[in-house]
Amino acid sequence: MSAGRMYEILKAKLARVVPDIELRYKAEIAEEIVELKKKRNAVILAHNYMEPALFYSIADFTGDSLDLSRKAATTDKDIIVFCGVRFMAETAKILSPDKTVLLPAEKAGCSLAESITADDVREIRRQFPDAPVVTYVNTYADVKAETDICCTSGNARAVIESLNSKRIIFIPDRYLAANTARTMGKNIVFPKRTEKGFSFDPIDSGFIGWDGSCEVHERFTVADVSNARRQFPDVLVLAHPECPESVCQASDYSGGTNGMIKFIQNSKANHILLLTECSMADNVAAANPDKDLIRICSIRCPHMNLITLEDTLAALQQNRFEITVPEDISRRARKAVERMIAIG
Ligand code: SF4
Repeated sequence: MSAGRMYEILKAKLARVVPDIELRYKAEIAEEIVELKKKRNAVILAHNYMEPALFYSIADFTGDSLDLSRKAATTDKDIIVFCGVRFMAETAKILSPDKTVLLPAEKAGCSLAESITADDVREIRRQFPDAPVVTYVNTYADVKAETDICCTSGNARAVIESLNSKRIIFIPDRYLAANTARTMGKNIVFPKRTEKGFSFDPIDSGFIGWDGSCEVHERFTVADVSNARRQFPDVLVLAHPECPESVCQASDYSGGTNGMIKFIQNSKANHILLLTECSMADNVAAANPDKDLIRICSIRCPHMNLITLEDTLAALQQNRFEITVPEDISRRARKAVERMIAIG
């Protein structure tokens, strides 16, 4: 494909979302990446939060963490280039240990993944030895290795129900845990920090949470919802479950990335407000040109934002930055991820 053809594809999809001069510039880099990925027998996986020009040009597969984990597990390519953040690339490596997995930006982290350590998980288990540990996929491999089963924002409830346990340790996102507990009619307690470590209030049944949060979704407020309702009285508001409880309760729908996308595809609403990461909202808007989507695009994930077309090209040219996971951690983490995938 020529750069001119790539530009036409991007223009058809993104003319309403991305300035033309940017599309022309990015189409040339995207074309180089597409050529190189063929030569190197690589597959490119792109998370929904990638910037629109990258998302719609070079990806072989796009989706949420669970979608991309499944693709990583079944690819026959030699190299997986993961356009997402480190914990996602680690999950790809855990599921495809024989492949080379590259992350285009070495420092693409995540506030949730960085909120908890494997030692923290061992300490919570010590305090609640009968409670299984459910870990959101937005965690590093050593934390997953201490876990019974992983979950995403879309399947958290199904995963928890599958365990049929009175008490559940659900880490590390306090808002996803609180929102899930509320919809399931469960209590939840969070750690109290003391000089001697952390402690929890006693709880017979319900969720034991952690106080991590997504630095993007925690910033949405009820005022964002009421401002939109004042300007567009018929607006339907969709909030990601990593948003604070008050925001999810003020919204009309709360669900994971794929849940939101399906909701929009099936909706006949005149106006829809998406309370989620800025590029995700742009990508959904581009895929639904017949829908009037309102985005609050002041909130871009700084970690996802590190993944650029330029760095993706450099990753393929220089084989950088290769993800490695120690074998013992990988083996234990794989069990937790595969249990989740089996539930779907
Ligand atoms: S959007 Fe939030 S949860 Fe996702 S990578 Fe960024 S900080 Fe982490």
